[in-house]
Amino acid sequence: MLSQVVELIEKKDRFAITSHVRPDGDGLGSSLGLFWLLKSLNKEVEVIMRDPAPHAYQQLPGADSIRVAPLVGDHFDAVFVIECSDVDRPGLDDLKNQFAVNIDHHSTTELFGSINWIDSTAAAVGEMIYNLCKATGGRVTKEIAECVYTALLTDTGSFHYSNTTERTFKIASELVRIGVKPAKTAEAIFGSYEWPKIELLSHVLSTAKRDATGHVAWMWQTIAMQEQTRAAEEDADGFVNYPLAVGEVEATALFKETAPGIYRTSLRSKGDVNVAKIAERFGGGGHRNAAGCTLKGNCEQIEQQVIPLMQDAIKRSNGLKDLTEDALSEPPAATGG
Ligand code: 5GP
Ligand code: MN
Repeated sequence: MLSQVVELIEKKDRFAITSHVRPDGDGLGSSLGLFWLLKSLNKEVEVIMRDPAPHAYQQLPGADSIRVAPLVGDHFDAVFVIECSDVDRPGLDDLKNQFAVNIDHHSTTELFGSINWIDSTAAAVGEMIYNLCKATGGRVTKEIAECVYTALLTDTGSFHYSNTTERTFKIASELVRIGVKPAKTAEAIFGSYEWPKIELLSHVLSTAKRDATGHVAWMWQTIAMQEQTRAAEEDADGFVNYPLAVGEVEATALFKETAPGIYRTSLRSKGDVNVAKIAERFGGGGHRNAAGCTLKGNCEQIEQQVIPLMQDAIKRSNGLKDLTEDALSEPPAATGG
């Protein structure tokens, strides 16, 4: 919990920070926010990641000092593991031998750390880093503010998703007061791609299909599409959301081929439709409305496995709706007498 993290920071001096493979805005923003916080407290600190920061996040303060490596090494008193469901998610081979501090906002996270601080009410781990900053008595510097704002902006889908709360806006407002420029940050992240992303998008959108109900939609991305367009690995980020723009679509999947017969799968949904449960069945995880996993097989097999589960998830959420409507329409229970 938070108090243990604060105590550790007070007592120790040499820290490493890492996050999951293919780091996203929250993984990177929170890691770098913590990096600047520890630096401001005069600690020795290094961010170590298995994968480099995608192009869209290279403008983040400190992104140029991230060490891309397969190991942590034995130099550190503790390793902060940001936004990881289990000890293997960072892809660092010697993490099991370290004093790990697990900081995450997924309720399903395994408690693999020597210290575990999990807050599933936080919209992003970035919110937790902001709270940590306050709890250590540290000042929220411009660098910390930019990193934390990026985490909030990306994990809330630009403040669209249901994880966005009053607290998220309060923190965001404070970060803007400190000097974050929302339009500049948004443009750096969402408006800095190169043309191959558009070409790749046109290929991927051309595969879009939906089921007979119209509530489930899915798309494919092949290795050939990526090679042909010379798009970067991260260029597919966000594609999975497009079909959700259609009112009746409640759940979407993007199956992205990363090696022959291997598909990185992104799932997204609206409202009570829970796609995290689907991802968990295949060894992945995530949040109710945004989750991911890796699937093996050919297109037909994968569709046969996943689409019925998505249809089920929608049925279940309708069941929930019926339940609450029933509960609302039920007359109040008699109170004796
Ligand atoms: P994306 O579709 O953007 O790759 O992932 C969406 C969300 O699902 C992420 O924020 C993360 O919470 C979760 N996620 C994606 N892939 C995995 C995975 O392989 N394992 C786990 N545990 N969670 C994942
Ligand atoms: Mn997150």
